[in-house]
Amino acid sequence: MNRTTTNRRGVRRHQLSVNNDRCRRYGTCEAEAPQLFRLMATGELFYRRSVAEEELEGAKAAARCCPMLAIRLEER
Ligand code: SF4
Repeated sequence: MNRTTTNRRGVRRHQLSVNNDRCRRYGTCEAEAPQLFRLMATGELFYRRSVAEEELEGAKAAARCCPMLAIRLEER
């Protein structure tokens, strides 16, 4: 479930997290939302935890397309 909230400044934010025990570094998330995910040549996956409203669709697509269901998106 991905609900939207508004913080004190009236800006909607969501929190992104990746379960490292599930992630197999396929990189599908980066293809769906390159502004949020970056898979390095070393195999490390970097991602931004704080998702702005305008990035929400990309974050949802990444979570939906992750073959390991490793991405979680929560209200903040
Ligand atoms: S798509 Fe899922 S399994 Fe693949 S790198 Fe991203 S989080 Fe990891």
